[in-house]
Amino acid sequence: MLTTLVWVPVRAAEPVVVQLNWKHQFEFAAFYAAERQGYYRDAGLDVRIVEGGPGINVVNEVVEGRADFGVGTSSLVVDRARGLPVVAVATLLQHSPVALLASRSQGVRSVHDLAGRPVSVDPHTRDEIEAFLLASGLPPSQIKLVGQVDWTLAALESGKVAAKAVYRSNEPFLIRGREHQFLLLTPQSAGIDLFGNMLFTSRAVLAARPNVVAAFREATLRGLVYALSNPEVVTDLILDRYNTQGKSRDHLLFEAAQLRELTSLDIVEAGYMSQGRWRHVVDVYARRGKLPADFELGDFVYDPQPATRVEPWLVVSLVVLLLALLVALRVVAKVRALNRALTAEVRDRTLAEEALQTREAQYRELVENANALILRLSPEGTVTYFNECAERLFGYSAPEIVGHSVFGTIVPAVESGSGRDLGEMMRNILADPASGEHNENENITRDGRRVFVRWSNQAIRRLDGSFAGLLCIGQDVTARRAMEQELAANRSRLEVQVAQRTAELAHAKEAAESANRAKSAFLANISHEIRTPLNAVIGMTHLMRRSGVSDDQAVRLDKIETAGQHLLEILNAVLDLSKIEAGKLGIERTGVMVNAVVHNVVAMLHDRAVAKGLVITEEVQPGLAPLLGDPTRLQQALLNFGSNAVKFTGEGGRVCFRTRVLEDSPTDQLVRFEVEDTGIGIAADKLGQIFSAFEQADSSTTREYGGTGLGLAITRRLAHLMGGSAGVSSEPGVGSTFWFTARLAKGEDMPITGLPPDADEAESLIGERFVGLRVLVVEDDEINREIAVEMLAETGLLIDTAEDGQVAVECVREADYALILMDMQMPRMDGLQATREIRALPGMAATPIVAMTANAFAEDRARCFEAGMNDFIPKPVEPDLLLRVVVKWLERHAGGV
Ligand code: ADP
Repeated sequence: MLTTLVWVPVRAAEPVVVQLNWKHQFEFAAFYAAERQGYYRDAGLDVRIVEGGPGINVVNEVVEGRADFGVGTSSLVVDRARGLPVVAVATLLQHSPVALLASRSQGVRSVHDLAGRPVSVDPHTRDEIEAFLLASGLPPSQIKLVGQVDWTLAALESGKVAAKAVYRSNEPFLIRGREHQFLLLTPQSAGIDLFGNMLFTSRAVLAARPNVVAAFREATLRGLVYALSNPEVVTDLILDRYNTQGKSRDHLLFEAAQLRELTSLDIVEAGYMSQGRWRHVVDVYARRGKLPADFELGDFVYDPQPATRVEPWLVVSLVVLLLALLVALRVVAKVRALNRALTAEVRDRTLAEEALQTREAQYRELVENANALILRLSPEGTVTYFNECAERLFGYSAPEIVGHSVFGTIVPAVESGSGRDLGEMMRNILADPASGEHNENENITRDGRRVFVRWSNQAIRRLDGSFAGLLCIGQDVTARRAMEQELAANRSRLEVQVAQRTAELAHAKEAAESANRAKSAFLANISHEIRTPLNAVIGMTHLMRRSGVSDDQAVRLDKIETAGQHLLEILNAVLDLSKIEAGKLGIERTGVMVNAVVHNVVAMLHDRAVAKGLVITEEVQPGLAPLLGDPTRLQQALLNFGSNAVKFTGEGGRVCFRTRVLEDSPTDQLVRFEVEDTGIGIAADKLGQIFSAFEQADSSTTREYGGTGLGLAITRRLAHLMGGSAGVSSEPGVGSTFWFTARLAKGEDMPITGLPPDADEAESLIGERFVGLRVLVVEDDEINREIAVEMLAETGLLIDTAEDGQVAVECVREADYALILMDMQMPRMDGLQATREIRALPGMAATPIVAMTANAFAEDRARCFEAGMNDFIPKPVEPDLLLRVVVKWLERHAGGV
């Protein structure tokens, strides 16, 4: 009503040309509606609507007078600032429909993803889009606006541009149904809220035809209201008369709905331009330097209610006007209410925008500051995102690397350590992301440093499942790798050191063992050397006694003999232990009657036991079969126990010998030998050491009982050599039980033709059966030779002697001997060679040859047997043993064994 009053009717039809800034579409419905509804005609206007399009500069058309009015944008204010005489008449849209459409398939998730990437704009949208991107925080250098050459969505969909300037009212229609693939970014979201389509004229037109301007404005806005209220009617009108673009009905209706929203007719009066909004527009452009911040709008904004001259006829109207004022007040109240609503709406929107921006900033901050390398790659391997952490590690700034391939930037061709083809690896991951979900590989920094990164790669998929790129999250593990390498190096260094130490230790051990063996060998040799002269002492004593001596002399000879025997025992013990320790004591495998061994030992100890008033008994396991073993060593071991038992048991005590089979297998038996006594016993704390060499339970016992402390050590070692062990249980004052075990093999029945039990029996056997047989004694030492001869001559045997091997061979050629006793070491020809030569003589294969040697080692015996000898008597030769051995072999020879 008010506007009706200020509108000055035009009397004659005024020609008016209005230039549109694009082709016909609903956007310009205000003009079509005004035309069709006759609003222009009613206003006395004859309006020609000129279609726009590419290449048509609306501002020029108006400024240069070819058109009276034009449809422009908020950037008219910039034109005005540049000096063009344009005047904004009314806004046809309260908010600009200009927006950016981006494709999610290009990896665009927010306006920030457009940094450095091409965005297409046309001259109408360029300024606004640039302002939008700047306001969104993109640095000017990262804004890449390119001219829009394609009015469809092809360039966007093909990826040529990352985003494209569009009209909210138009292009979104084209993507209906697949909105999720796109992103519509509105300048409003960055606080840029420009006017939409702006109806403008030139100063010249306004000055010359103010009424026309007012009338055209009024009629056009009426058309706008009509068009937005009757979209269907106007759509039909466009389809009928203006559809140069060939848009569908649906498309036009879509446009109508969008425009209706942007026009906000329910809130703001059609065409209304607030000074505040214009100031905002000026600020937006001023921030970009398009016009000075203090630019005065002046008469740029058309005032639809100019101060009018008070015409006399108007006075008459004042009453009416006053009445109208009341109405106007109500309207103002309504407008203010609407304004308040608008302000609230704007405030809400601002708050929502701020919240959105804050959230976006938070996410961005999170990703940027995450202590992880975050990269996004296109399917071709182009970097599309690069976070701060990645910038720090690799030395590239995001703008430098975004848009470039990872190949040749952070992915080197070949991994330096492993020689892996990293280019191929990366291509494989891009081809099949699942294959490289977790991956640790070398990368290269901008300055050529090699770094190790553990990557977790995740495929980014479009809704249709196609591969849109790779999200790579990485951790720099260079330090860890370096540490691992150092550890590995240390480990191998340590291994080398350990191997070196082990070798040194082995060497030291070998040296110690060889020293120990040398010591043992020395002891064995020295004791052997002592035995030779001792042999002479004992032998001579024996001979002297036999040649008849006085009682006094007999007593002294007894003492010499006892001392000699004792010395011999000690020597034998030292020799045995040394041989064992030097590994030189061999264990024989010959027939053994276990119980006979026990019996022998008991017989040997019998006199001593009786003399001490002891009872000595045997409790052997009956029916033991003959076994294979070393009877001499078994006897020695058992005798050690037995002698001790007798030695450490006082009068009235008992000593008992036992045998028992502990294990019986098809091939052998484990036999236990035990000697129990009721003697002094041994303190528990000494039990552990008495089996060690030279150890005795009590040093005072040494004085009381004598002894060397070697017997038990030898017994235990012998038991070990025979596959068994040795031990003791004892209680002081009650008695002790010493035991040892030996594993003895089962053999075929062996003839056990042992020695005659003693020398007396041997002597009488010779007397009965072998008198007159000839025996050859081969010995280089004169004394020994004499002893042997003396010992044997009295038995009735005929004894020849030879002082070396050669003489012996000569003797054998000439006489027939029943037995040859052969020394081993002799000048000219030794015993071994002599034996071999004798055996080679005709008829000499079976004659028994018995070695006499101080070389008590098993290998010496082996060499004797190899050379063809039959037996072995250790030196110093014990007279009794000599007789028994001689008888044994004479018997065998006689029996043809
Ligand atoms: P020795 O020549 O001193 O007897 P042995 O090695 O045979 O050496 O014995 C070591 C020590 O063990 C003896 O000196 C003695 O103290 C103790 N011993 C051995 N047998 C007996 C036993 N039957 N009763 C008590 N003590 C024993």
